[in-house]
Amino acid sequence: MSEPKSHSCANSEDERKENSSIAESNLTNYIDSVASSTIFSSSTVSKNGLTEFKQSPKCLVCNKKFTLTLRRHHCRFCKESVCDLHSMKRRNFPGDSDKQRICDNCDKEFVKEEVRKEVEEEVAKLEKQVQHAREVNEKLYKEHYEKTARVNQLELELTKAERIQKQKEQTLQDKLMEEQKKGNSARQQVDELGKCLDESRKCEKDMIEKCEGTEKQLEILKNQTESLKERRTELEGQIEHLNSRLKGSLPLDQVREIMCQRCRSRLNQTYKPLVHDVPIPEEGEDDGSIVEND
Ligand SMILES: [Zn+2]
Ligand SMILES: [Zn+2]
Ligand SMILES: [Zn+2]
Repeated sequence: MSEPKSHSCANSEDERKENSSIAESNLTNYIDSVASSTIFSSSTVSKNGLTEFKQSPKCLVCNKKFTLTLRRHHCRFCKESVCDLHSMKRRNFPGDSDKQRICDNCDKEFVKEEVRKEVEEEVAKLEKQVQHAREVNEKLYKEHYEKTARVNQLELELTKAERIQKQKEQTLQDKLMEEQKKGNSARQQVDELGKCLDESRKCEKDMIEKCEGTEKQLEILKNQTESLKERRTELEGQIEHLNSRLKGSLPLDQVREIMCQRCRSRLNQTYKPLVHDVPIPEEGEDDGSIVEND
């Protein structure tokens, strides 16, 4: 039971733990037995103990035979015989301050136990750190989750806002197009009206010119009418004068009766139509010729 398990080859941590716990229990049992026994207590060993030590011919650790030069010593913990080289270290029993000789095998067990305790403490510390890290991680995960949710929310809102913006832009674009169309048609109308106005102006100008021409013609016609009226008045005066002159003369038939044959034939040759159709000729010139012939 007290033999060290230095050659145990532990692969997994569990196995190692198991082994170390076995070793621990062995050592604890051993230390307990030593501590509880008054016979094997450190104080009694130094006084009566020599007979209690095992008197082996060889060193338990290196298996070398004891001689005059290679002296036998005894481990105070396992009571085995060991050479000086393999019992160089000193340890005190629990609750005792005096250092005692200990063999390398027993010392290994103590060292193992110390290392195990250190490892346990280290493991506990690491577990605490892991726990803390887990908590931090959880917190961070929660924060990350919340932030992600917020980001998603914001993205949704952004998408919505973008859609609304696009719709507004589209509406404005449509309105703009409509306004442009209206503007274009209005411009066309203005152009057409301008053309009409130009044509109207041209027509007006032509009309004015025509009017002016017509007025001139009218003026001329008026003048002509005036002069014709004057001429008519003049002619009427002449007719009046001739008529008054004719009143005193004989009618043509009577004149013909009193004419000689020669004059009558001559008159007939020249004024035949006048003689038969028109007793008093309207034309002043013919009238004059008749008067001349009288
Ligand atoms: Zn030895
Ligand atoms: Zn020993
Ligand atoms: Zn005559």
